Amino acid sequence: MPYDVIIIGGGPAGLSAALVLGRARKRVLLCDAGEPRNARAEQIHTFVTRDGTPPAEFRRIGREQLRAYPGVEVRDVRVAALSREGDGFVAAFADGTRAAARRVLLAVGVRDILSDDLPGLRELWGRSVFQCPYCHGWEVQDRRFAYLSPGPEWVRWGVFLTGWSRDVVVLTSGAYAVDDAARDELRRAGVGLDERPLRRLVAEGGELVALEFADGGTLAREVLFARPAQQQTELVQRLGLELDEHGFVRVDALGRTSVAGVFAAGDLTTPVQGALLAAAAGMQAAAGLNHELTVEHALSGDAAPARPPAASRAPGGTGG
Ligand SMILES: Cc1cc2nc3c(=O)[nH]c(=O)nc-3n(C[C@H](O)[C@H](O)[C@H](O)COP(=O)(O)OP(=O)(O)OC[C@H]3O[C@@H](n4cnc5c(N)ncnc54)[C@H](O)[C@@H]3O)c2cc1C
Repeated sequence: MPYDVIIIGGGPAGLSAALVLGRARKRVLLCDAGEPRNARAEQIHTFVTRDGTPPAEFRRIGREQLRAYPGVEVRDVRVAALSREGDGFVAAFADGTRAAARRVLLAVGVRDILSDDLPGLRELWGRSVFQCPYCHGWEVQDRRFAYLSPGPEWVRWGVFLTGWSRDVVVLTSGAYAVDDAARDELRRAGVGLDERPLRRLVAEGGELVALEFADGGTLAREVLFARPAQQQTELVQRLGLELDEHGFVRVDALGRTSVAGVFAAGDLTTPVQGALLAAAAGMQAAAGLNHELTVEHALSGDAAPARPPAASRAPGGTGG
């Protein structure tokens, strides 16, 4: 096998895993299709030492640090299909080439489903429409917030948003009824509730300025929090991995999925999502992979482990 591990996905999870495996002298191919989930965000926040770093710069630094480890190869290519062959796996790339490895780490993230049913949502995503207040709440604090609650069980999340602004209105878009207990909590917290069906988000200069309702009414708002549904990538869907009740790939503490030899880390495994969390999960899965591979090799009786050459230079600074 030319590679010990093919890592699919070069976001925080994949980059972190590649770093750990490179330092553990494993031969790694990191493939990335170049469609990061946070591409629309101007900066990454809440990643200690990287707070305020643009997502592209974060990835550039990650790749630069991998260059110190000759066992790690990075390719900008989409993995179109993955199949088991012999003791390992073969990845077929979108450019028609293939590569084989003993193990696979899926770090492909998830897809946010930005519905076109609400015009403006897609355009304003990551600019005025956000999912995570920990990521972007500081930047928009004390502005006029709206929160589009996806269902009755999420209505109270509007109270939590008052940590960033005291001017919060919860929206149901007429999709469901709100019970009296939730109404009472919103009222006590000073959070508004508007149950009219939404027609569109109104923007000026690329920023949200108002919500327009189906009845023709408007509400001035500068920030919308929303929780779009998420979907696994096609590659993951085709692998038939066991998912949890919320549709995330089920993994154990070391990132092992229900399919032997296939590991997963990052957003595709959990609804608790963040760049730092994904990077940590990537490290954890890499440790699991390295342990398995090293023990397997040592017990195989192969006296000449195929290791990448020692690094010709010490890891440098961040370059950032
Ligand atoms: C608008 C927005 C802003 C955000 N802001 C923040 C923030 O400020 N702070 C924070 O901590 N978190 C933030 N997040 C969350 C954060 O982006 C994610 O938690 C994090 O990127 C997850 O990392 P990951 O490595 O699991 O996946 P991703 O970063 O999504 O990376 C997955 C990579 O896999 C690649 N890929 C997918 N399929 C294939 C394939 N078949 N072949 C090859 N490559 C493939 C994709 O192109 C992508 O590059 C934000 C999210 C969004 C949507």
